Amino acid sequence: MPGPRPCLFPGRDSTLMSTATVAPVSVWEAAHQVDADRPRSRQKQLGASDTVCQRRAAYILAGTPPTDEADKRTAILGTYIHEGLLTAARTRYGWQVERTVADELIRGHIDVVQFDEATARRLPERHRPRVHATASERQGVVVEDLKTKSTFVWDRVIKYGATAAELRQLYTYARLLRTHGFEDVKGQRHLARLGPIPVQTLRFRFVNRDNGTEHTQEFRYDERAAEQARWWVEQVHDVEDPDEAPRDFDGPGLDGTCDHCRFRTRCWPPTDPPGAAPQSILVRNDADRAAALADYERGQQLESRGGRIRKLARAKLDAAPPGIYGEHQLTWTGGNAKREPDVDAMIRLFHDAGLPVPTTPDTAAMTTQLKTAGIPVPERTGRARTPRTIQVSPAPAQ
Ligand code: SF4
Repeated sequence: MPGPRPCLFPGRDSTLMSTATVAPVSVWEAAHQVDADRPRSRQKQLGASDTVCQRRAAYILAGTPPTDEADKRTAILGTYIHEGLLTAARTRYGWQVERTVADELIRGHIDVVQFDEATARRLPERHRPRVHATASERQGVVVEDLKTKSTFVWDRVIKYGATAAELRQLYTYARLLRTHGFEDVKGQRHLARLGPIPVQTLRFRFVNRDNGTEHTQEFRYDERAAEQARWWVEQVHDVEDPDEAPRDFDGPGLDGTCDHCRFRTRCWPPTDPPGAAPQSILVRNDADRAAALADYERGQQLESRGGRIRKLARAKLDAAPPGIYGEHQLTWTGGNAKREPDVDAMIRLFHDAGLPVPTTPDTAAMTTQLKTAGIPVPERTGRARTPRTIQVSPAPAQ
């Protein structure tokens, strides 16, 4: 006697399925509310972490109401990790964390300030660090920024380090410390009494928020880079109409920063005709069209040249063993047999369970059969559209 049929869909209880279920309340609602109540969320002054895009910074400074909801879940998770790690560093190592700096144009909260021996000795003993993160005295005072990153961008972080906006933020902190010292506010008056702090080293501490891997990037304070960061902030303060401020990113669909920006609809208003790429608003006349065509052509040439260089290099490296060569590390991944669904075994399972095996018409085989028989293949206009393909070629001689 055959045994009972295996159940292919355990848990599908018809009694349960017919009962309407109400999804439990999401914990994110509470998390967003708590986040909105944070002092940083209510701050109206320009913050060092706002030095990402000039247009966005100008909107913030002008008090422009946001036009879009931003999904803050990733940022909130980053804040939780941030708080946990910095609290641990403060309580166990005695590091100075989350300290405020400000002047008339900008304010910010420095994640970590590592004092050198000489500066630490100027503090009451209980405020001195118990564990130093600074490898040598030559590094002097170190200003540190902790950034959490996903695995998705981790390779880019290791390869290229901090972004221009992140560098600007860290230089803004360091410059404020060098010119003004710590802000004279409750909780850090003992630090404010130190006066301007001669920061010599900047450090990024990147933490992978998926697996905890830590990576640091360190460099000497550079006065020119600090002045450029300051100039950026001054430019934003000089903006009279935020809608005229330069955009530092290429817009929704091309830059993730814009996709998640709270001002993206204000910055990239609806297009004419509706549905065109947001960037089409940047082209107003034939001169703009000519410039965009020239850019397209230049981009195509760079792309094709870059592709040739990469393909040749890849072919040359095909037999190279993994290792560190000069400034780069070579590793190989893949090359393993791929796993794929075993369709025959699935059909057997469905047969055994008495379930119908789904069938999909094989359009390619049917088309071939009709053509072979000399019968025209019936067609109808579908909803899908063929992709619009741009063709750019030299203008014919007039
Ligand atoms: S949408 Fe992009 S370019 Fe515009 S303000 Fe936001 S980040 Fe800047």
